[in-house]
Amino acid sequence: MQPLTEKMIRSSFINASRQEAKKLTLPENFSTLDWDQLDYLGWRDPKMPQRGYMIYTDSEGQTRGLLLRVTEGGRKPGSSAMCEMCRDVTIPCSVGMFTTRRSGQSGRDGNTLGTLICLHFECSSNVRIPPPKDPINPDPMVVVAQRIDMLDERVNAFINRV
Ligand SMILES: [Zn+2]
Repeated sequence: MQPLTEKMIRSSFINASRQEAKKLTLPENFSTLDWDQLDYLGWRDPKMPQRGYMIYTDSEGQTRGLLLRVTEGGRKPGSSAMCEMCRDVTIPCSVGMFTTRRSGQSGRDGNTLGTLICLHFECSSNVRIPPPKDPINPDPMVVVAQRIDMLDERVNAFINRV
């Protein structure tokens, strides 16, 4: 994704108050992020670890951010829990239940959406792990490219639902 500035991030939220967006703490590695390797920016707030954020720029260049809350501790890698974003990938990390307030009036009325996501938003690196070669998928990098597209689509669809 295209690099974002702190200001762009703080003004991107569709379901957080101005106060919440102001209070967030950027990821510790923000200045050294490898944006080329990210399909969305996701992180847990270093000061309020129950909070998570996802920032995504769609194909039209519109950047939207979500504030999420972890409601359940992690489920270990290899359990049946599957991240709704990087799905179909054998993921090496834990997955957690996140809830996110809906945008607009619906959110002010208390409506939320719940979804399973990698506990520390590792999706972008998960989809880039090349799968073993097999006769159906002789080129692992083609599979990786497809997974990147799918992740992009799912994140976009999720933000649209919020
Ligand atoms: Zn994931």
